[in-house]
Amino acid sequence: MRTFDQNYIDGAFVPVTGEELVDIVDPATEEVVGQARLANRDDARRAVEAAMHAQPAFGGSVVAERIGLLERLRASMLAHADEILEATITEYGGLVARAQWVANYASQCFGDAARVLSTYAFERPVGGSTVVMAPVGVSALFAPWNSTAGTMASKLASAIAAGCATVIKPSELSPWQAHVVARAIHEAGLPPGVVNIVTGRGLDVGAEIGTHPGVTKLSFTGSTPTGKLIARGAVDTMKRVSLALTGKSASLLLNDADLNAAIPLALGAAFMNSGQACVAGTRLLVPRARTAEVVERIRSAVAALRVGDPRDPATTIGPMVSRAQYERVQHFIRRGIDQGATLIAGGEGRPDGLDRGWFVRPTVFADVRNDMDIAREEIFGPVLSVLPVDSEDEAIAVANDSPYGLQAYVFSTDADRARRVAARLQAGTVLINRVAPDLLAPFGGVKQSGVGREFGVRGMEAFLEPKTISAA
Ligand code: NAD
Repeated sequence: MRTFDQNYIDGAFVPVTGEELVDIVDPATEEVVGQARLANRDDARRAVEAAMHAQPAFGGSVVAERIGLLERLRASMLAHADEILEATITEYGGLVARAQWVANYASQCFGDAARVLSTYAFERPVGGSTVVMAPVGVSALFAPWNSTAGTMASKLASAIAAGCATVIKPSELSPWQAHVVARAIHEAGLPPGVVNIVTGRGLDVGAEIGTHPGVTKLSFTGSTPTGKLIARGAVDTMKRVSLALTGKSASLLLNDADLNAAIPLALGAAFMNSGQACVAGTRLLVPRARTAEVVERIRSAVAALRVGDPRDPATTIGPMVSRAQYERVQHFIRRGIDQGATLIAGGEGRPDGLDRGWFVRPTVFADVRNDMDIAREEIFGPVLSVLPVDSEDEAIAVANDSPYGLQAYVFSTDADRARRVAARLQAGTVLINRVAPDLLAPFGGVKQSGVGREFGVRGMEAFLEPKTISAA
């Protein structure tokens, strides 16, 4: 049994003063593997005060200093990769390959930020003036449970590059992962107060940080309903807000697609991170004439998926993070059946042979209409909807008929045509014949999938504010 009962504030691990204790449950076994004490509003205020105290000196630091810090963070995160991997598997149920990717990514984003910083022009002439890109100030970074180490590291890398002191609020479902990341940060030896980490619930700790007058910038990753609460709470003190929110991504299989290549990619997009991914391609739009063939191929590919122990490298779908998430997925599978979609794989309940753990059956519906709940709402589990369309124009219209617009996928053998389609899709990112992200290109959503961009130069600029200096 592990116990997590410390905040990281002002360069030291200090006891949490909050009184709520929560069990940490391994989602693959339902066994209690640890306990965490959640932070409260007092802890949150202390963390913000430490960041406020650190901000003036850190905001005035020179680029070479910050590059040095980023390099130390990169190395320290790499040194803790095995612990990040272990925590991601045990606390979250992440698959080995995914957890390995997350552990490496948590290190890599500091290296990427150092490279961005080394060539960035903080001062430029504009008209007759000089524009100086200045750190925005104390920044609060909110992370969801489906990508704890990755989101903490990626947001922190951009904030440090920009010269912003931070308060990080990981999800209350991720105290173990957050603690391992905190240890790696501590061992990098940053000036006290530049990074503070308090793990607590959104409604008290999150709200306290998100409305504190000493915080200038909010960088939030999570669901759209919470993002709206954050944005409303931010407006009184005019905080700068970046929101990375819910997705309901469309995958467009064009009629010239090579199914041998496209179907595995489309399924990879749908079921990545066991379906608990904001960028999961969960609406597959298929030319009606090819639907029967596509459905047959999907049926046999899904039958070959292995659901089970996330530690087994052969497993392709792990457990849902919690009972609540398991129930949510079950609800949507029932809803799909009730609303008349055709179940072609999976269905309600656990997979055969798995009677413990929050495992769901990888599920695919055909004959889905875009007005059904399973096509409109983010399920956040391995549930794919196949929607037949009659033309390329209709595919684009259906893809865009969503309140969300995070990432879309196009599968085609005609590169020019795929780019023309991509240009008409309402999405922050369009991936053509691939599912791997580009970690230096801007990432974020349009419509209700969010505001602002992360990664690379744009990610750092989200923590900068232009200041114009004009002299007579
Ligand atoms: P969530 O919205 O419930 O919580 C996200 C974070 O916000 C958590 O740390 C939570 O404690 C905190 N929070 C909750 N209420 C708050 C409040 N009032 N004030 C401040 N903080 C508050 O999301 P989740 O369930 O943890 O994560 C899943 C969601 O995140 C999905 O919708 C997914 O699409 C989205 N997501 C988006 C991206 C992206 O890049 N667009 C990436 C990963 C996840």
